Amino acid sequence: MTKKQRKTAVNADIVLIGAGIMSATLGVLLKQLMPEAKIQILERLDEVAAESSAAWNNAGTGHSALCELNYTPQNSNGSISIDKALHIAESFEVSKQFWASLVEMGLISMPDKFIHSIPHMSLVVGENNVSFLKKRYDAMQQSHLFQGMVYSENFDKIKEWVPLIMDGRNKEEKIAATRIDIGTDVNFGALTRAMLHYLSSQDGVEMRLAHEVQDIQKDEDGRWEIEVKNLTTRRKKVITANFVFIGAGGGSLLLLEKSGIPEAKGFGGFPVSGQWLKCVNPEVIKEHHAKVYGKAAIGAPPMSVPHLDTRFIDGKKALLFGPYAGFSTKFLKNGSYLDLATSIKIGNIRPMIAAGLDNIALTRYLINEVRQSPEDRIKTLQYYVPTAKMEDWELEYAGQRVQVIKKDEEHGGKLEFGTEVVTNAEGSLSALLGASPGASTAVSIMLDVLSKCFPKQMKQKEWKTKLQALIPSYGHSLAKDAELTAKMRARSAAILELNEKEEISI
Ligand SMILES: Cc1cc2nc3c(=O)[nH]c(=O)nc-3n(C[C@H](O)[C@H](O)[C@H](O)COP(=O)(O)OP(=O)(O)OC[C@H]3O[C@@H](n4cnc5c(N)ncnc54)[C@H](O)[C@@H]3O)c2cc1C
Repeated sequence: MTKKQRKTAVNADIVLIGAGIMSATLGVLLKQLMPEAKIQILERLDEVAAESSAAWNNAGTGHSALCELNYTPQNSNGSISIDKALHIAESFEVSKQFWASLVEMGLISMPDKFIHSIPHMSLVVGENNVSFLKKRYDAMQQSHLFQGMVYSENFDKIKEWVPLIMDGRNKEEKIAATRIDIGTDVNFGALTRAMLHYLSSQDGVEMRLAHEVQDIQKDEDGRWEIEVKNLTTRRKKVITANFVFIGAGGGSLLLLEKSGIPEAKGFGGFPVSGQWLKCVNPEVIKEHHAKVYGKAAIGAPPMSVPHLDTRFIDGKKALLFGPYAGFSTKFLKNGSYLDLATSIKIGNIRPMIAAGLDNIALTRYLINEVRQSPEDRIKTLQYYVPTAKMEDWELEYAGQRVQVIKKDEEHGGKLEFGTEVVTNAEGSLSALLGASPGASTAVSIMLDVLSKCFPKQMKQKEWKTKLQALIPSYGHSLAKDAELTAKMRARSAAILELNEKEEISI
């Protein structure tokens, strides 16, 4: 830091980089736990929640493993593992409890702006897939977290649930579906805006939009110096802090590398872009009322599982199909084509090359997906909606995901599809990499960040009591307690007004 920068530096306790759902969630948690803390929120765009957390940039599925088949993999002996599904279902309940508490405490309002009930369904075609779905259903019946799920192979029953998918379909086709009514659609963009609106009205919190973080260094006193450029005035400023959270979405890897923490060594990123088909015919939108997840094509990555989704965005019902995953070298939708090249450093070149070589087929698949013509995309849609017409659907660009590449003893490097919290040994800097299951589990991920960065306080009664006020089941396992799950679900549903929304306009 130059002398001039030292003079004009802003001193904060906490810096949150990025104004997406992750920083918003952590910011609200920290403000409740440390009301006196001085928090700076830095966002490069001139609005909040405009990258992955924006409504049309993600699918808005309240991921709770009620319909996503990739959360219940089949073991080599043919049995179905539901461990991941249990973890995700429980994490989503934690998120709902937290959002409900924010509404109850008056910190955010109008839950119908960000969450709606919608049945979650899985639907598969063909003998093997039907057998998989039946086994999955049977395995899930073992847990109260999936209570209420029903299974059918009956054409007419499934048609009653999803007429749009069954119209024009061959009755002889082997088809099966599960359905559960407690699913949700979440507008993560609206939720993020609501949380950040509350946060920025609090004493000691300052949000700077159009401010891009360009460097992160430790000063000689052990504090973090964050160099930030005001993109409007083009002036640079330094903000110092004891704790930094890099919640920059796809941009997190590049900033983590700048921090120079040894724990960042070996991490790389594999960018995956996405597109949706968005329905523009109100009559078609009206005909569908569910989130219906299918099975990914062989060789396709888990994030390209096709789904036909009812959405509730800005007071309107909408319908999307996708995603059509693709390859792009950008790490953010509003990023640079140089992002991938810039991210390659001496510390991660080996894992990047190893993961790249192991995933040539995946890269080829993604490049082919990008090259699809409108006719190809409609053909894929017609597998789910046989009567789909080109003129009823238009292309929409989804957010960018950066999948995590990690060091691996055996292969040198491997590609992962989950999220990874990378924290330095002293817990003064933490970054979130990866994108799945994503926004739905933001609260549990941020509790993990708090445990890693504030371990002492997390064990103290004061923080535990505050966390229990925000998340009533905090400290208890929902997966092991059916009664507590039912109680928590009823509380969240009542406060978030789930199952009692009026029909929304189209
Ligand atoms: C196609 C797709 C579908 C998805 N579907 C779902 C779903 O159905 N359900 C679900 O739960 N999750 C889903 N996700 C995942 C979910 O969207 C993300 O996990 C979540 O939005 C990530 O939030 P974030 O705050 O980490 O990142 P973001 O929302 O991307 O926010 C990061 C912010 O950091 C800013 N930033 C970046 N670099 C800098 C810098 N140098 N300086 C300052 N600011 C910076 C960016 O501009 C951005 O505003 C999906 C994601 C995608 C891409």
